[in-house]
Amino acid sequence: MKSFADLGLSKGLVESVQLLGFESPTPIQEQAIPVLLTGNRDFVGLAQTGTGKTAAFGLPLLDLVDDKSNDTQALVLAPTRELGLQIANDLENFSEKIKRFNIVAVYGGASISEQIRKVKRGAQIIVATPGRLIDLIDRKAINLSSIKYVVLDEADEMLNMGFKDDLDKILSFTSKEKATWLFSATMPREVRSIMKNYMTDPFELQVGEQNTGNVNIEHAYVVIQDRDKYLALKRILDYTPDIFGLIFCRTRIDTQKVAEMLMKDGYNADSLHGDLTQQQRDRVMVRFRQRDLQILVATDVAARGIDVDDITHVIHLNIPDEMEFYTHRSGRTARAGKKGISIAMISKRELGKVKQIEKTLKSTFRRMMVPTGPEVCQKQLLSLMHKVHEVKVNESEIEAFLPQVYEALKGLTKEELIKRFASIEFNRFLDYYRNAPDLNTEGGKRMDGEGGDRYAAAGGTRFFINLGRMDGIEKAQMLELLDDFCGLEKKDIGKIDLKGAYSFFEVEKEKAEQVLKGFKGGVEYQGRQVRVEETSDSGGGGRRSRGGDRDDSSSPRRSDGPPRRERSGSGGGSYSDRRRSDKPSYGGSRSERGGSSSGRSYADKSSKPTSSSSAPYSEKKHDRTNKKWDF
Ligand code: AMP
Repeated sequence: MKSFADLGLSKGLVESVQLLGFESPTPIQEQAIPVLLTGNRDFVGLAQTGTGKTAAFGLPLLDLVDDKSNDTQALVLAPTRELGLQIANDLENFSEKIKRFNIVAVYGGASISEQIRKVKRGAQIIVATPGRLIDLIDRKAINLSSIKYVVLDEADEMLNMGFKDDLDKILSFTSKEKATWLFSATMPREVRSIMKNYMTDPFELQVGEQNTGNVNIEHAYVVIQDRDKYLALKRILDYTPDIFGLIFCRTRIDTQKVAEMLMKDGYNADSLHGDLTQQQRDRVMVRFRQRDLQILVATDVAARGIDVDDITHVIHLNIPDEMEFYTHRSGRTARAGKKGISIAMISKRELGKVKQIEKTLKSTFRRMMVPTGPEVCQKQLLSLMHKVHEVKVNESEIEAFLPQVYEALKGLTKEELIKRFASIEFNRFLDYYRNAPDLNTEGGKRMDGEGGDRYAAAGGTRFFINLGRMDGIEKAQMLELLDDFCGLEKKDIGKIDLKGAYSFFEVEKEKAEQVLKGFKGGVEYQGRQVRVEETSDSGGGGRRSRGGDRDDSSSPRRSDGPPRRERSGSGGGSYSDRRRSDKPSYGGSRSERGGSSSGRSYADKSSKPTSSSSAPYSEKKHDRTNKKWDF
């Protein structure tokens, strides 16, 4: 294996990368750097992200660009602002010890005048997103004629994002003598056409087999019914307390919705999508990068180029139709030599898509089962024990309190103490998952035989109502309520399923409208706002638990964490006053428990005082009451 010094790089640069902890070149660096250092050859590198391609082009670029001249000599184009900033940052880091370059990043969503000012000061290297660069060209704020090197990074993504015309325009402003270096994870027709139109006899390099993807990614899928997706997602998250994950949804609306539901259920999550302002997106990304955020829910476009090491899981709430999207999504994990898991949540009819991706990737997907309630509980308990081992004891500060603590616990044996401490955290998972249904499906039906099309088959319409036994509602009261508010008679009403803090009832299809009208506009029952929603939900498989009629709908994460600030706008990441943790392991720490999970009934039953940060009841049960999951 070659060392960086063997590749022809200047001594200073070799020292720089060593200081950064790069011990030896990655395969693409080993093969690309000597070719690029000649400075006169067009180049095409077919490589996935995470292979070290930024250094593969960045290091030779820094050796070739003349720091004595203020001319703009190199232009690096990247699909997203995030990637652009990352590249500019990497170049700064590589060159810090050797040359004084003026490296300027230009991208949309930030002050253009500030960027123009920086460019005019003399930028030897410009890293740009195509759209903003065109703005600068149009304003005659940039002169590309002195460019000697153009790098097109993630060319396939730039073309996917519709930058073809912009690229054509930009390249037409550069001189014919320049060298063009193109990097792409895939080689679609559009990339070939850029090569044909703008490059001369490029040196082509392929690292790894095209499309085989990263061998460090384990590909898996779970088969569930569409309507169980959110529940299954929560199971996976609860089963993986140390997850540092990226969840993909198809649309911006779904992305926002899922993130909000997770947040309300007490997960340390936020969203990233195009409806957020650039400032909001930046804030979310900073939190995610710093691991202040454990779960990021994103759209494909917004997540392009996200380069965050250590992402443990990528979860596809829907399996994408396009192979490119799947590759891009799953490529956000297993970066820089780490391992990662990509989990597609699919319905049975989508198995064909999995087979197709398997074929293209030449990789086998493992079928994963959605963890059962006991499995989640066991995992949580073990995680708790792990934390007990790992917790840092602040000897000097806790010392003063210990005599009182010992006094308060003195009657308890060691075994009793362990049991009780473990139970404090463990009980909520145990309660929550007690009687939780098996969400895995076989032949399109849940394996527990519950769920399915029960209500549709009955020909009625099923409603959720946020009143239950805790409100003194029994069947007679429910019938009375439906008569009072909706004018329904007993014969119009089907099954009534009473729970603790909420219930379900069925009415004939023709009467459904009457129900919705009856409860419209702030109806109150015993001083409480009544909420009624149509649902296809089975109500936790129709089971009743011992511990207060909980079903799988709310979350085991509860509202006794630190108070939560509500966010003012949509998205954007101002949600948290959750504490920062240095590690990606948030599961179980109080900081992730800021959200509410339990309805009134649970809070009332809790042995702990009800937190004032508890979310109002109307925020609960989203997962079970939504009619359709179409992520
Ligand atoms: P890239 O493909 O350029 O996005 O790089 C992926 C990750 O690998 C980044 O976090 C780099 O800092 C890291 N990296 C790049 N080259 C090396 C190397 N030779 N040794 C160790 N890490 C590297």
